[in-house]
Amino acid sequence: MTTIDIQLSATRKEKPKEDQLAFGRNFTDHMFIMDYSTEKGWYDPRIVPYAPISLDPSTMVFHYGQTVFEGLKAYRTKDDQILLFRPEKNMERMNLSNERICIPHIDGEIVIEGLKKLIQVDRDWVPTAEGTSLYIRPFVIPTEPFLGVAPATQYRFMIIMSPVGSYYKEGIQPVRIFVENEYVRAVAGGTGTAKTGGNYAASLKAQEEATKRGYTQVLWLDGVEKKYVEEVGSMNVFFKIKGEVVTPQLNGSILEGITRNSILQLLRHWDIPVSERRISMDEIREAYDKGELEEAFGTGTAAVISPIGEFLYEEKQILINEGKTGELSKKLYDTLTGIQNGTLKDEFGWTV
Ligand code: PMP
Repeated sequence: MTTIDIQLSATRKEKPKEDQLAFGRNFTDHMFIMDYSTEKGWYDPRIVPYAPISLDPSTMVFHYGQTVFEGLKAYRTKDDQILLFRPEKNMERMNLSNERICIPHIDGEIVIEGLKKLIQVDRDWVPTAEGTSLYIRPFVIPTEPFLGVAPATQYRFMIIMSPVGSYYKEGIQPVRIFVENEYVRAVAGGTGTAKTGGNYAASLKAQEEATKRGYTQVLWLDGVEKKYVEEVGSMNVFFKIKGEVVTPQLNGSILEGITRNSILQLLRHWDIPVSERRISMDEIREAYDKGELEEAFGTGTAAVISPIGEFLYEEKQILINEGKTGELSKKLYDTLTGIQNGTLKDEFGWTV
């Protein structure tokens, strides 16, 4: 077993008020670090006081985007336990991302052990109010000072944590989605299946334009024909059409969400017909015209379920369930959040 050194902070920061938690603005007192060199492999896993890091301006992280990140949450239960939701899936996905952009494999077990220790150290930072959680951001950066375009030979893996408020302050709310048919997020053969910084940089322009037009997020189409549905913002997407739930199949450009995977398992467990297949915007529009488009929702760690009330596609509105949250969306939201925060029995063994 690798030992994880713990260096406690001499001072403690003031915690933000639980009704004023903004996403990703406040960080806990400590962080987890582990370094990599070609000679030593991953070494020196440690917990240290949260603080800025100093890097040479030539450090590769500033130039070619060889970065990977993850996102998961810790929830405080009513009886004061702290639960993580499927953290091994995040580590699995992190290594798929690493593999795609030539970052060396990371031992998920060491990371999860380090994460549990970090949460113990910063336990008081896990908020208690309903719907709140501690957002956990593991990430890897190349730390080698070098301007050559090549995989780095030195890296740093870190975990930082931030208390976050309830995503839905006034109950689960449907969003308006702009179907983007100029910009694309990812293409098959590209890096869409990896959680790497460049994908998010590529998404900003479309998001900015959609926001200007009053839409919450964009729906991404495939990068070749701009016909088939891929994702919604940084969420996977599901449709309920004539009683069947459909989500785009993993195709080499879609990021496989852990929420997506959990939703599929729940639906199958409930014997609700579900298929992972290619689905075009034309099919969605046709289903809408025939009155068969019953619900649509995005899935991801941040919102868990984000019901979609409306799409704008080729300047025409597609209104779903009169813009209201559908029954299935609500049931999935209640079930998954219930498992995550310990109020429902975890039949799947998802929480740790
Ligand atoms: N797609 C993209 C592009 C994302 O960034 C995310 C968030 N990680 C998701 C889907 C949803 O993934 P998860 O359910 O694991 O949060």
